[in-house]
Amino acid sequence: MATRYAQIIVDVPTMQTNRPYTYALPADLQGQVQPGMRVIVPFGHRQVMGFVVALTDKSDVAAEELKEVTTSLDLEPVLSPELVQLSAELAEDIFAFRITILQSMLPNSLKADYQQRLKLEKADLSDDIRVEYLEGQQERDVKLSKFTPKQWRQLKQLAAEGWLSIEPIIANRGRIKKQRAYQLSADSEFLEEAAGQLRANAKQQKHLLDFILENQGQTFTKKELQEMADFSTATLQAGVKKGWLQATDVELLRRPAGTAIESGQQWHQLNPEQEAAYEAVIGAAHAQTYQPFLLEGITGSGKTEVYLQAAAEVLKSGKTVLFLVPEIALTPQMLERVRARFGNKTAVLHSGLSEGERYDEWRRTERGDVQVVVGARSAVFAPLTNLGLIIVDEEHETSYQQADNPRYNARDVALWRAAYHDIPVILGSATPSLESRSRAQKGVYQHLMLTKRAGGAELPKVEIVDMKESMADQPDTNFSTSLRNKIQARLDRKEQMVLLLNRRGYSSFVMCRDCGFVPRDPNCNLAMTLHMDTHTLKCHYCGYQEPIPQICPACGSKRIRYYGTGTQKAEAELMDLFPSARVIRIDQDTTRKKGSLAKALQRFGQGEADILLGTQMVAKGLDFPDVTLVGVLNADTSLGLPDFHAAERTFQLLTQVAGRAGRHEAKGEVVIQTFNPEHYAITYAQKHDYEGFYRQEMAIRHAGQYPPYFYTVQIQMSAPEENQVALQAAQVGRWLKKRIPNNVIQLGPSPQPIAKLKNRYYFQILLKLKDDHEMDGFLHELADRAQKAKNGLQLNVIRNPLSFM
Ligand code: ADP
Ligand code: ZN
Repeated sequence: MATRYAQIIVDVPTMQTNRPYTYALPADLQGQVQPGMRVIVPFGHRQVMGFVVALTDKSDVAAEELKEVTTSLDLEPVLSPELVQLSAELAEDIFAFRITILQSMLPNSLKADYQQRLKLEKADLSDDIRVEYLEGQQERDVKLSKFTPKQWRQLKQLAAEGWLSIEPIIANRGRIKKQRAYQLSADSEFLEEAAGQLRANAKQQKHLLDFILENQGQTFTKKELQEMADFSTATLQAGVKKGWLQATDVELLRRPAGTAIESGQQWHQLNPEQEAAYEAVIGAAHAQTYQPFLLEGITGSGKTEVYLQAAAEVLKSGKTVLFLVPEIALTPQMLERVRARFGNKTAVLHSGLSEGERYDEWRRTERGDVQVVVGARSAVFAPLTNLGLIIVDEEHETSYQQADNPRYNARDVALWRAAYHDIPVILGSATPSLESRSRAQKGVYQHLMLTKRAGGAELPKVEIVDMKESMADQPDTNFSTSLRNKIQARLDRKEQMVLLLNRRGYSSFVMCRDCGFVPRDPNCNLAMTLHMDTHTLKCHYCGYQEPIPQICPACGSKRIRYYGTGTQKAEAELMDLFPSARVIRIDQDTTRKKGSLAKALQRFGQGEADILLGTQMVAKGLDFPDVTLVGVLNADTSLGLPDFHAAERTFQLLTQVAGRAGRHEAKGEVVIQTFNPEHYAITYAQKHDYEGFYRQEMAIRHAGQYPPYFYTVQIQMSAPEENQVALQAAQVGRWLKKRIPNNVIQLGPSPQPIAKLKNRYYFQILLKLKDDHEMDGFLHELADRAQKAKNGLQLNVIRNPLSFM
C-alpha cells in the first residue's frame, strides 16, 4: 500500500508546531522516506527542515492546501521509532517543543549541516554531494550536480548491487574521513598454495601470509596492520599484487582524545553484597522485565564493579548497555575503567568532545559498531537499539537535569527507555536523592545495598572545625589551625590532598559570624536572598521580605556578614601559607579548554602536585589512591542556598568529598570547616550516616510540604523590563489562582534568586501538587497563551526542578 503522506514536525519551535503537519510525498519519495528521517518542506514562505514522525494514507488537509515535501536529507532514518515516540511523550511531559527535543537527540554536526544546505535552498539542494564508485580495484570520485530523488533511488540500487559506495548519511559527506585499509583474502586453498611456493628467504612475505591465514576475511586499517605486525608498505603492496589482500577504504572515525585502550582489566571476585545486587539485576535482565534498582552503596563499596560485571553479562546475550555518568568532570576516570573492560566496544558521548568526535561516536553507535555507550546527560538519547541494561551512576546529581530548554532529566528519560525495552535500570549512589530513596522505600524501585568498602579500606575519620571559634582567634584566615597542621603534615610526608571550595550558591545571603545563624523566611523556612539595592532579604518562593537585620536575632551579635564568594582569596592564601606546595586548581575557569580537566587530573594522579584545589568538581567520582586528606574550606555556602534542597545538597557534597580520602591502603582523614557545626547535614555527613540524614530530612520535607511528599512545578517568567515582568507575572498568578484546585499550593509570583540574568528579569511561581499531572492541561494552555501573547514575556514551565536559579 502506498504511503502518500508524511506527518512532519517542522523546525519552527512554537507550541502550535508541537503537533505534526501533514505533507504530501511526491511520487519519487514514496517508499523512500521513512519515519525518523529529516526532510525539507515548505513552511509559510520559507523552506525548513522537519522530522518525519509517521506516514499515512490519508490526509487531514484539504487537497488545495496540501503542500509537498521538497526533498529528503537522509537515506536512512537518523532516529529510531523509539526515539521518535520518546520525543512526543517527553515534549508533553516537560512542556518543551518537540522539535527542540528531536534536535537534542542528534549530534550538532547534523544540525549544522542541514542549515548550510538550507542556505543553498534556491540552488539545487544536492549540489554538494559526492558519490564514489569502485571499478574493479580502482576508486574514483564523481561529483554529481542536479541530483534528483529518482537518481538517488537508482544509485541506492546500484550500491545495493555493489557497484558503488555512497555514504548512508549523505548530508555528512564532508565530515567523514577515509582511511586506507586492507581486506584479507578468505580463500585458504589459494593462500596455502601461495605459502607453498614462497622462496625460503621471503621472510616478510611468509610473515604476512601467516598473518592472513590466521585472520582470513577480516579487514584492518593500514595503521592497525603496521601496529600489530609491523608490515612495511612494500610488503603490503606485494601482497595486494599477488591477490592475498585487497586495498579498500574504510570510514575513519576519530577517537576522542584520552587514554589508550586496553581490554581485559582485572575483574574482582564480587563480595556477597555485590553478588546479591548483581544477581538481582541479571535476574531482571534475563527475565526481560522493566525493573528500576536503587543501588545504594557508600563511596568505594564497589558499585562500579557491579555495574561493569552486570554490563558484561548483558553484553554476552548480544544486547547493548547505556552507562550514564553525571558530568564531564567524572568521565575521564570512569571512562578509563569502562574502556579498560570493554575496549573497542565502547563509545563515548559527552559535551567535551569536538563536534567531529561527537558525530563519529554517535555514528559508531548508530551503525551498531559499539555495544556500550558511556556518557553524560545527552548520551541518554544514544542511538542504541538493542538495549539490555541502563546504568545511571550518581543518580542524585543535578547535572542530569538540563538547565535550559529542553529541560529534560536524563534519569527520568533513562527510566522511560528501560520501560520501553523491558529491561533493568540501575540508579546508583552513595547519597540517593530523597525522591529515589523514598521510591525504594515504597517498593517502586528495588532497593540494593552495599554497606562496606569493597577493598577493605575504612571510611575516613571526619573532624568538624567550628569556624566561629577559629575566626575569633584568627579573623583573617580561611584556614583553621587544625587544617593548616594537617596540610603541613601531608606536605612533610609527601602525601596528597584534596581541598574543596564550596562555591555552589550565591554571594547573596547573610550569616551571623558569631553563631552561624542564617535568616530564614517564616513561610517557607528557606534561606533568604540578599538584595543590596533595597537592603532587604527576600524569600524567592513566596515573596516574603524583611530588612537586613543589624543585630543577629539568634545571639544578639552585630557581626552579620554577607556570604558566598571569597574563594579566590582562599586560593591566594593557600599559596601564601604553603609557598612550596605544588597546587593544581580545578574550577570552571581552569577547565574550560577541552581536555584540560582530564590533563589536570592526570597530572595530579601522577603525583605532579601535592594539593588538588577545586570547586564541587573535585568532590565527585575521582579516585586517587595517594590522597590521605580532604579539606572542606567552607561547608556553609550550600546551606545558604535559597532552595529546599539546600541541606540535601550539602550532605551529598560533604559525603562525596569525604569519600575521596583514603580509598586505598593509606588511611584517610577529612576536615570540614563550618559556621554551623551542629547542622544535621554536617553532623550526619561526619558520621557517614545517610539513613539518619534521610529520616530527619524527610520529616522536614513533610512539614514544609516539599518533595518527595509533593511534586513541584516552577513557572519561570522573564522579560527585559523589571516592572513589565512583575506585572505580567502577577497576571499569570491571578489566572492560575482562579483555576487551581484546593489541594494544589501556589507560591508567588516572586523574583527568582538570580533575579536578573543577561539583561532579563526573572520571576517565578511555584506549584506544589500531590498528583504530578494534575495541572498539565492548564499549564499547557498557559504556555500556549504566553507564546501567542507576543508581549515580550518568556514563560517556561519546569517540572520538578532540581535547583532554583
Ligand atoms: P564505588 O563505585 O562504589 O565507589 P568501586 O567500584 O570504584 O566503588 O570500588 C572501590 C574500589 O574497590 C576500587 O578500587 C575497586 O577496584 C575495588 N573493588 C571493587 N569490588 C571489589 C571486590 N569485590 N574485591 C576487591 N576489590 C574490589
Ligand atoms: Zn517564603
